[in-house]
Amino acid sequence: MSISYVNGRYVPHREASVHIEDRGFQFADAVYEVFALQGGRLIDEEGHLDRLERSLGELAIARPMSRAALKLVMRQLLRANRIAYGSLYLQISRGVAPRDFAAPQGLTPTLVMTVMRQKPFDPQAALKGARVITAPDIRWKRCDIKTVQLLAGVMCKTAAHEQGAAEAWLLDTDGFVTEGSSSNAWIVTADGELITRHTDHAILGGVTRKTVIKLAGQNNLKYVERTFSLDEAKAAREAFTTSSTVMVRPVTHIDDTQIGDGACGPFCRNVIELYGAYMKQDAPT
Ligand code: PMP
Repeated sequence: MSISYVNGRYVPHREASVHIEDRGFQFADAVYEVFALQGGRLIDEEGHLDRLERSLGELAIARPMSRAALKLVMRQLLRANRIAYGSLYLQISRGVAPRDFAAPQGLTPTLVMTVMRQKPFDPQAALKGARVITAPDIRWKRCDIKTVQLLAGVMCKTAAHEQGAAEAWLLDTDGFVTEGSSSNAWIVTADGELITRHTDHAILGGVTRKTVIKLAGQNNLKYVERTFSLDEAKAAREAFTTSSTVMVRPVTHIDDTQIGDGACGPFCRNVIELYGAYMKQDAPT
C-alpha cells in the first residue's frame, strides 16, 4: 500500500480523497505533471516544474506553495514510499467551491500527489516497438496546457488498445500528425533527419521531447521541428514516440503500414541509448 499526499497530509493511498465539489472533479479545472523516477532521481524535474507553473499561469490557478516547498513535499513522498523507480503524479486543481462554471477568485488550490512503482528503464527492452493507430484529433484548442481534461486522449488510447496498438497518433483536419494521445510523435526521414512537430497551442510541449531535441543537438543528429503528414509518416524510415512514462518507444506500424523494416531502426536505437545515458547522469535531485 503506497502513501499519497493530499493537501498537507501523507495518507495511505486507499484513504486519499478530495471533496466532491473539487473543481478538478466537476470541471477538469486542474493541471498535472508526471515525473519519471529512475534510481531515486526525478528526471527533468525542473522542466516539469517550469511547465507546471506555466499551466497554472495560463489558467490563473493559484500556486499551492513555492517551488522549493513543492520539491520538498515530493522528496518527502518518495521517502515515505521508499521508492526509487517509477513515477510521481502531481495534480493541482483550482480548489473546492459550490458548482458554478465561472471560476471564483481566491480559492485554495487542491494539491495531490501519488507514486507508482515501475521497473527501471531498460534500453534493451525499449527496443521492442509497438503499433500505433491514427484518429482524428478532437481535442480542444489549448493542448499546450497540461490539464486533466483528457477525455479525447482516453477515447483514442482505449481504441488503440482495443485494436492491439500501444498508442493513437492524432490527425488534424489537414492530415498532419499533431502528437500521440499521451506522447509526442517523431519520424526519421530518408536522409536521416529527426522530425517532430513544432510546438504551439495544438500540442503539449513534452519534456521528454525537449530533452531528446537537446540530446540530438549535442550529438550532431539532424533534427527539424515542423509539421509532417500521415502520408509522410507512413513513408518514413523510422518512427517513434516520447513521453515521461514510456520514455522512447519505436513505432513498427502506423495503422496497417509497416514502418521501415518493422523493428527499431538505428536512429531510434541511438535516441534510446542517449536518453538512457541521460537519465543515469541527470543531476541527483
Ligand atoms: N503529449 C501529450 C498529449 C501527453 O499527454 C504527454 C504525456 N503527458 C506527452 C505529449 C509527453 O510529454 P512528456 O514528455 O512531458 O511526458
